[in-house]
Amino acid sequence: MSIHPTLRLSDLAGLDLQCSCGRRHQVPIRHIVTGEGALERLPEVVASFSGKRALLIGDSHTWPLAGEKAQELLTSTGIQVTPYIFSRRDHYLTDEYAIGELLVALPQQTDLIVTVGSGTMNDVTRTVAVRCGLPWIIIGTAPSMDGYASSTSAIIINDEKRSVPLGSPYGIVMDTDLLVTAPDEMLSAGIGDVLGKYVTLADWRLAAREGREHYCETIAGLIEAACGRCLAGYEHVLARDSAAIEDMAGTLVMAGVAISMFGTSRPCAGSEHQLAHVWEVAAIQRGGQSPLHGNFVGLGTVASILLYQAAAENFGFTDLQQALPEAKMISEILTRAGGWASKERLGIDRALFESSFTHAARTNPRYTILTYLEERGCLEIYAKQVTALLYDV
Ligand SMILES: [Zn+2]
Ligand SMILES: [Zn+2]
Repeated sequence: MSIHPTLRLSDLAGLDLQCSCGRRHQVPIRHIVTGEGALERLPEVVASFSGKRALLIGDSHTWPLAGEKAQELLTSTGIQVTPYIFSRRDHYLTDEYAIGELLVALPQQTDLIVTVGSGTMNDVTRTVAVRCGLPWIIIGTAPSMDGYASSTSAIIINDEKRSVPLGSPYGIVMDTDLLVTAPDEMLSAGIGDVLGKYVTLADWRLAAREGREHYCETIAGLIEAACGRCLAGYEHVLARDSAAIEDMAGTLVMAGVAISMFGTSRPCAGSEHQLAHVWEVAAIQRGGQSPLHGNFVGLGTVASILLYQAAAENFGFTDLQQALPEAKMISEILTRAGGWASKERLGIDRALFESSFTHAARTNPRYTILTYLEERGCLEIYAKQVTALLYDV
């Protein structure tokens, strides 16, 4: 069996593919429901849980969006629902406190967790559900990151961010009527996480070329096709056009599906994520309200594209660089999306920015352009060049 890059997202649910790359790719997610009014289809997603008990969670922001409606739909399917609304702290992270709060809220007799939320709630749910051996369904409230379909969670423990391999959700519901109401900062973050995939693909191809990583053209093709549709329609996303928001949400879910298919986040996180990770940890350690992941990735995307631009000719990978969008174009898109991904808004000073390249290369084992240049002893020089391009203006 083969898959076409333009196939519908819902067709990927339950996929079991013996791929031409030599590996078998599976998508354990049973239901992916997207589009306007998708929430109304929750009963078909949970049909096999009729007569069982579900914990339905949201927070003070997401519950009013879809909590009550979800409770009504679950109850009408014959599911006994225990609702739980997270207390929204001003400092709200996927950390040991949030995970602990959900564990305490989880009734002893629970067959399913249903979550209304996005990044934090999604990662907290995955962590608790997998550790407790429970299936879970996520009702997405913002197209802000690619973690909905992913099999790993980004968890903060003792102020350090870790990527923990866990498992995939039973079902995903992405209702465009909810997604179009997401705040600007979250839309901008979603755009950043999508644009970053261009760098990820260049890094993955570089790693494969260097014989350092298995590469799958089927998975890369799926991501590339979805990102292309998104890039072409980003203006409509900013105008909150329902079809464009649905497309972007679909791309973010597709990225998570690709992680599940490959088994690691390799298809969706390259040097732009490695840089973002350094800045995110610095922000967490500074304390206060942390900017969103996807906005760090937006700036990381600009930085990585500039790095490719600076080094490609000297090292013979101009083909990879030329396949990337222009850094200027990405910067303009992010500025038009509200400027949430600017270095000033993210609190990244010159010293942190410049040191993040070598810091990421030396602490993150994934092979990317950072590794490539670090192994040749010239990453620091290129980091200086890229820093000057962004800070000496
Ligand atoms: Zn990401
Ligand atoms: Zn493959």
